[in-house]
Amino acid sequence: MSQKEQQLLLDLFRESDALLEGHFLLSSGKHSEKYVQCEKLMQYPDRARQVVAAVAEQVKNLSIDVIVGPAMGGIRAAYELGRQLNIRTIFTERVDNVMTLRRGFDIKEGEKVLIMEDVVTTGKSSLEAIKVIEGLGGTVIGIGCLVDRKMSAVILPIYSAVELFFETYDQQGCPQCEKGSEAIKPGSRKFSE
Ligand SMILES: [Zn+2]
Repeated sequence: MSQKEQQLLLDLFRESDALLEGHFLLSSGKHSEKYVQCEKLMQYPDRARQVVAAVAEQVKNLSIDVIVGPAMGGIRAAYELGRQLNIRTIFTERVDNVMTLRRGFDIKEGEKVLIMEDVVTTGKSSLEAIKVIEGLGGTVIGIGCLVDRKMSAVILPIYSAVELFFETYDQQGCPQCEKGSEAIKPGSRKFSE
């Protein structure tokens, strides 16, 4: 993808107010002064289409049998990718904090699976989904995502629409904590107000 295409996609995130600045407590426990909320972009179907098309372009020749989006963040991104490529799309979800496949969804022995996420940060939810998929005999061939935060330790190809690296901090050493501000969990009620 060219620099110009990347910029155009990033502009879609900006126009959607999906790139946020403040003091955030991430699910990893780290603090950050920036956060990307993909669902802010995904609420606009035409922007969703354009960003996901950048991923579709990269994976369209991979002979994918099934696309799996880990809930919640992966559901809409995966659905839109499946729609564009006309590939069966399902999702995993956490039950009592354990990633599982429910709702009668199935993966057959030997099926080639692409995981589709909104954001890949540490890759935790992808790793949990990989465990479920491989447990059923599926083969994960890669991870698609809207945003690659470039911090993942997952050893699989990542196909992203945009790459965004944000500095993260432990509480000790967080510039916002030093200023005495309180870190807010993105997605919480307090956060959305
Ligand atoms: Zn902090």
